[in-house]
Amino acid sequence: MIILITLSGFMGSIVDSILGASIQAKFVCTKCDKPTERVMHCDQATQHTSGILWFDNDWVNVAGTLSGGGIFLLLYYMWF
Ligand SMILES: [Zn+2]
Repeated sequence: MIILITLSGFMGSIVDSILGASIQAKFVCTKCDKPTERVMHCDQATQHTSGILWFDNDWVNVAGTLSGGGIFLLLYYMWF
């Protein structure tokens, strides 16, 4: 059981970082040219560069957590 929880938590964090590196919205500051995950920087609206516009870091965390739970259920039914 402990192995399952550890494994699914670990896989959830992998999903988290894959999503973060792929479809998460990325922006660049129009003032200081720094890449950012925020829609505002230096008191100015940033420019969208890649990823899905509304898919911010919060959604990445939600998706990562849900997938961890989903993977746990999957492993659980495969195991027992
Ligand atoms: Zn800036």
